Amino acid sequence: MIRKLLHRVFNHRALPFSASAEPARIPVSQHGIRREQVSPGAVKVCATLQNRGHQAYIVGGAVRDLLIGHTPKDHDVATSATPEEVRALFRRSRIIGRRFKIVHIMNGQETIEVSTFRANQAAETDRHGRVLADNIYGSQAEDAIRRDFTVNALYYDPLTETIVDYHHGVADLQQKMLRVIGEPRARYREDPVRMLRAVRLAAKLGLVIDPAARAPIRSMADLLENVPAARLFDETLKLLMSGNAVRCIGQLREEGLHHGLLPLLDIVLDQPVAERFLWLALENTDARVRADKPVSPSFLFAALLWPEVSRTWKERQAAGEPPYPALFDAMDEVLAAQAERLAITRRIAGDIKELWGLQARFDKRAGRMPYRLIEHPRFRAAWDFLLLRAQAGGIPEELPAWWDRFAHASQDEREELLRAATGSGKAPARKRRRSRRKPAEATPPEPSS
Ligand code: ATP
Ligand code: MG
Repeated sequence: MIRKLLHRVFNHRALPFSASAEPARIPVSQHGIRREQVSPGAVKVCATLQNRGHQAYIVGGAVRDLLIGHTPKDHDVATSATPEEVRALFRRSRIIGRRFKIVHIMNGQETIEVSTFRANQAAETDRHGRVLADNIYGSQAEDAIRRDFTVNALYYDPLTETIVDYHHGVADLQQKMLRVIGEPRARYREDPVRMLRAVRLAAKLGLVIDPAARAPIRSMADLLENVPAARLFDETLKLLMSGNAVRCIGQLREEGLHHGLLPLLDIVLDQPVAERFLWLALENTDARVRADKPVSPSFLFAALLWPEVSRTWKERQAAGEPPYPALFDAMDEVLAAQAERLAITRRIAGDIKELWGLQARFDKRAGRMPYRLIEHPRFRAAWDFLLLRAQAGGIPEELPAWWDRFAHASQDEREELLRAATGSGKAPARKRRRSRRKPAEATPPEPSS
């Protein structure tokens, strides 16, 4: 208790502005969010905690999204109870995290993430050599001030249907303004990823980044270099899968933030075909996300990096390397260059390579190979990718059209299609594969974008 009090007094001084100021308590008549609109699981969690005398609110993205009429993708709860206290109250729950413990509560299919009110990390290092526990708990006001944007620091009590608002988040949201809590430079220095979050959330929510928060981004973009590659990967993935990838990437470029993320983007965007390909891929992804269709991260990254692979592949072939090894070497080269900045997980990298590798096989329209290709478990994804390449103008539209017909044709029609594609009779595939120099094999996979 005394520790908590001391802690509060201490923090109070360290904070950029008072964390003890009275928040606005906005009634449902003003904000209009009814308890029926939030997940029943989250309501139950809040009710159980409040019954035991704890404070408990739905917080963050869910409240923000509801206020602008979006359906929240998940629900987080913030409480005054410690993780251990929370854990003890819910049978299907577990404590996760090492540095910051949070509790996952399972309710049917849904997982509700419950975190204890926390003080800003920065306050932790300001202490005079005192050893601190890994979890520095705080008041609700402290919890609000450590959050990144005013619109993310809103607490909804589903029982009273009241929103607790410490930083005028509701007003900012109404004015379509994304504002950083505290001094933007200091907050970006604490965590550079907040710059990316600003761009992502502004694009997702249709908000304008407050000029004070926007101005320092360009000059501070380099700080992203200090962010671990794995975290950058997570953030980039969120950005790309947000359903607003086109807007996000556009704005990242405008803010000069993409350098640290996708170093290859710069090169790519200088080439018309490559640029067209990239935008098509992103538009395609956005459309799928909005239609609630699955999007695979590997497809997305394969697309983002393809123009560079394609360019390197072409170069290597021009230098005399045969098409297949040239492609695989190009793939490795591009992935290695990328890995320094953005840690693409091993599994995703494997899927990406598979998708790229299959592109070369579309050029082989003879013998048994096409039959095997259409049976490949990733044929569909690889064909989608091929179609994108054609739409971007990198390869003839005829190629994906041919494969679509081939995949859906009868046996006889397939033989006919093969004859038409090779222009000649059907030489046995096995023989032809062995000797590269035979005329029938003289058309290498087209080194195209
Ligand atoms: P999304 O719709 O993508 O889930 P979100 O705002 O909910 O957006 P989360 O990553 O789920 O993003 O974070 C939940 C909440 O945690 C945020 O609303 C914000 O209050 C806080 N938060 C997240 N990341 C940071 C950060 N880097 N610095 C400060 N607060 C953060
Ligand atoms: Mg969230």
